[in-house]
Amino acid sequence: MKCDPILYRGAPPSLAVKPRLLRHFLLPLLIILLTIGLGYAGYRISEHFGIRTLSETGERQLELHARTVESELGKYTYLPSLLELESSVSQLLADPSAQNRVTVNQYLEGLNRRSRSRAIYVLDTTGRVMATSNWRDTDSYLGEDLSFRAYFQDAVRGQPGRFYGIGSTSGEPGYYLAHGLEEQGKIIGVAVIKVRLEALEERWQRARLEAYVSDENGIIILSSDPSRRLKSIRPLSADTKERLARSLQYYWWPLNELQPLERESLAEGVEKVTFANNSEVVTDHQEVSYLAQTRRLNDTPWDITLLTPLQDLRREAANQGMLVAVAFALLAFLLIAWNERRKVIATRLAAREALQEANNQLERKITERTTHLRASNERLKGQIRERRQAEDTLRRAQDELVQAGKLAAIGQMSTSIAHELNQPLAALRTLSGNTVRFLERGDLKVAADNLGTINNLVDRMGRITANLRSFARRGDDHGQASLGKAVDAALQLLANRMEESGVQLHRDLNDELLKIDQTRLEQILVNLIGNALDAMQGQPTPPQLWLTGEFSDDKYRLRVRDNGPGIDPEARKHLFEPFFTTKPGEQGLGLGLTLSASLAAAAGGNLSVEFPAIGGVAFVLLLPLVQPAKAEPI
Ligand code: ADP
Repeated sequence: MKCDPILYRGAPPSLAVKPRLLRHFLLPLLIILLTIGLGYAGYRISEHFGIRTLSETGERQLELHARTVESELGKYTYLPSLLELESSVSQLLADPSAQNRVTVNQYLEGLNRRSRSRAIYVLDTTGRVMATSNWRDTDSYLGEDLSFRAYFQDAVRGQPGRFYGIGSTSGEPGYYLAHGLEEQGKIIGVAVIKVRLEALEERWQRARLEAYVSDENGIIILSSDPSRRLKSIRPLSADTKERLARSLQYYWWPLNELQPLERESLAEGVEKVTFANNSEVVTDHQEVSYLAQTRRLNDTPWDITLLTPLQDLRREAANQGMLVAVAFALLAFLLIAWNERRKVIATRLAAREALQEANNQLERKITERTTHLRASNERLKGQIRERRQAEDTLRRAQDELVQAGKLAAIGQMSTSIAHELNQPLAALRTLSGNTVRFLERGDLKVAADNLGTINNLVDRMGRITANLRSFARRGDDHGQASLGKAVDAALQLLANRMEESGVQLHRDLNDELLKIDQTRLEQILVNLIGNALDAMQGQPTPPQLWLTGEFSDDKYRLRVRDNGPGIDPEARKHLFEPFFTTKPGEQGLGLGLTLSASLAAAAGGNLSVEFPAIGGVAFVLLLPLVQPAKAEPI
């Protein structure tokens, strides 16, 4: 079964290539790009939200630690102003005698011990140290001129002196708070307290906190990481550096810049900074990123910055990005698989529908053809009926013709029959008359001989009439005939004429059983031999007749040949036409060959004519054998 090709018609080749190209090359590329893109987006989003969470937490922590620093600094804020109340201090400033100095030194020493500050000292209005808590130490400040210090300059003008610096004597960093000592509205000296803030740094380190405090110059004065200490958080101009160096605030420190590899501002006071990894702990990372949150410390020009490492967050974000990429890749894979499956199902459905359609078409065609076949079958049946009727009519006509032919032959033969019968009749008359006379004479022997002859003559006459009867009888063509008997009967019928013409007979036949009615075969033979005798009549050469036979597959071929004058070419064309005769007067009816040919054909054989080169005519009768087998000649 063929399906309709229209149903399977694909896309034109030029168009069919492109989707395949797209599917095989562009789609995977697109999926890979999308996977990477979405993974990166996932990473960025996760990082963004992570930073937001971190900054919220960091803000709280920053607040907490800023408060701690503020309270640490606030503890000492009012300590210098307390010295205003101490009369020994004002006495010393009014009268810098050795006695007064000793008194104040001892007082300051005690105060310093109790307040756990680094040092407390008193300066006169020129900036010279009048008394100090560390008066016993070798590197005591006593007598030193500290007028260059900014805290002194502020305090002597009546402003609070706040200062972080490295001691010019000890080289030790510290936080200096200075206060102008007033008496009766006039500043008579300056009280200074130096505090060390390392405790804060230690506390940060213990809490594993990364933080630093930068002063008004942008110099880190406190840091959980010692390597960042005394570095500037922003670039310093050459002038500033010069100024700071001259002020000796940071002693001789180079004040290098804390240079981040990358800096990104996220919000007010929130930055993302990346430093090179200077940590001694060996890690895979060459750089460390932090979320830096900065806040101004109250009552100071300082800023505290909290650094929250972003490493964990980045790892987490990378995981999230990876998860998104994998999820997308999985989804894409599932979608492709689903799409492929959908296409397969669609193709199958289309094929099934096409098959169904082809089936329907086939069924329609079968129905149409069946209808046509039925109609033509009916037509054929009608034709067969008509043909049968025609055949019946033809057979009847043939029978009639045969019968007519026979009767005609009988008519033709009547003269010779009469002659044939007259002869024995005359002999009978003579013999019977003689027999009567011989009986009267008592010659019984001769009478008996005559009676025997009479008997023979009657037998002969009986045979002649029997032949005539069987010739005239209607026969059917379903019987079988003995060739030998038929030849004998025909020769018997024509014996008289053969005798008259003195024909020489050559017989070379097999006695075969042929599929034809005996009478019909005899009739054919009588016609053919009779015609030959007619043709050879009156010719100067002695007439000869050949009856020869041979097997031809399942048939037997009988040849009746004479050495007569033959047939002229014009007459040859009309030989088998009914009523064609060349015989004069009543002698010929022109039915003999026609009837013989139709009888042969009715028996499944045929009758044809040959014209041998040596002369004469040969009629060839081909008839089917009852048992197609070879036999000996008769
Ligand atoms: P009819 O014998 O009545 O003429 P046929 O049909 O038997 O009719 O023969 C038709 C004609 O064929 C004959 O008139 C004769 O001219 C020709 N014919 C038949 N047999 C022979 C033969 N053996 N030799 C020559 N002519 C023949």
